[in-house]
Amino acid sequence: MLAYLGRRKGLRFSTATWRFVRGVSGVAETTAKERVDTIVIGAGVVGLAVARELSLRGREVLILDAASSFGTVTSSRNSEVVHAGIYYPPNSLKAKFCVRGRELLYRYCSEYEIPYKKIGKLIVATGSSEIPKLDLLMHLGTLNGVSCLRMLEGFDAMRMEPQLRCVKALLSPESGILDTHSFMLSLVGEAENNHTTFSYNTVVLNGRVEEKKMHLFVAETGLCEAEAQLELIPSLVVNSAGLGAQALAKRFQGLHHRFVPSSHYARGCYFTLSGTKSAPFNKLVYPIPEEGGLGVHVTLDLNGLVKFGPDVEWIEGTDDQSSFLNKYTERRNSTPRSESIIRISKMDHWNLVIQASVLSFLDQNSLPQILLSGRGDSWSSRSC
Ligand SMILES: Cc1cc2nc3c(=O)[nH]c(=O)nc-3n(C[C@H](O)[C@H](O)[C@H](O)COP(=O)(O)OP(=O)(O)OC[C@H]3O[C@@H](n4cnc5c(N)ncnc54)[C@H](O)[C@@H]3O)c2cc1C
Repeated sequence: MLAYLGRRKGLRFSTATWRFVRGVSGVAETTAKERVDTIVIGAGVVGLAVARELSLRGREVLILDAASSFGTVTSSRNSEVVHAGIYYPPNSLKAKFCVRGRELLYRYCSEYEIPYKKIGKLIVATGSSEIPKLDLLMHLGTLNGVSCLRMLEGFDAMRMEPQLRCVKALLSPESGILDTHSFMLSLVGEAENNHTTFSYNTVVLNGRVEEKKMHLFVAETGLCEAEAQLELIPSLVVNSAGLGAQALAKRFQGLHHRFVPSSHYARGCYFTLSGTKSAPFNKLVYPIPEEGGLGVHVTLDLNGLVKFGPDVEWIEGTDDQSSFLNKYTERRNSTPRSESIIRISKMDHWNLVIQASVLSFLDQNSLPQILLSGRGDSWSSRSC
């Protein structure tokens, strides 16, 4: 990382340059300093999109990520769904950004040939008690400007999706799926073409706000992370460190904690169905949302792989391995691909929703066999 920065600035850094005297709180008193125009912290999808846009506007961007590549955290562990914008409170930023963002995202995917499909989504009511909630979602979606929403009677929804059993469903034709890796790769390419510098394996340890300037202290990941190796003084900083963003902001001296939103962590797991030759659904199928999430839903990826999830388990922090093994009874099997086979004992919702032919996988009497997806577990904040 340091050599890379040196090359970029046309500077030669000798080992002696990086020798520093440790000061209090692990920050060296004689750490080398660099002024830069713009720093984006985190190369997840948010940081990449920000870096691309700022570089297109002529800013000189340096993007730092603690991992060895882009998009290795939440941005590669999600449902890959392009949301329509139904759920959010009208006039909220989430509602506005989701609706506008969807339009821009589909346009971007078409223009740059990113694989995507507008396969549509059904939000289903499995009993009459859920119908008022479905009506509310229809109302919210309409207020948010989501076009083409349609309320379907159960039999119409079941004609569309024969494996489904429901009493009513909200059809959102604008919802879809995309290949998030191709999307991120395209953002990286564009940012690089606009002279953005990427520095991986570079962790931002902390910072200091001083006379309206931010000073960031960075180190190479895994090496002397207790000590800063370089002090960067950018004109503009974007903190897009994902789940680490709030914790990092709290380590910025001089930034009042009241500006830092609180964190609420949840853990979620995905599961893929085994034993089916073809996907049981053509569309995304979601239950009525539950507190803290959209509910365990069925998503398809562009290869037709069916995923269930994520479930939601509230936890204390991101290093909490939590009660996953308490919640599910795990049975390890050696399969040709040596994946773990998990027996899920709690999947009540899908027993209600899925009809007989698929029910054999999910019937409580013959517990479902579900392959734990390799991309399956994920940390999430409340926003998922
Ligand atoms: C289970 C789940 C399902 C989801 N499904 C969908 C969906 O279907 N559709 C949708 O639109 N959204 C979905 N989301 C939300 C979406 O995935 C996230 O909003 C998005 O990926 C967040 O991207 P990010 O760039 O903010 O964070 P991340 O992808 O986590 O990137 C943050 C980066 O910052 C780096 N970093 C952290 N701390 C530091 C540091 N101190 N120094 C340097 N680098 C640092 C990390 O290494 C990481 O690369 C889902 C989220 C979850 C959890």
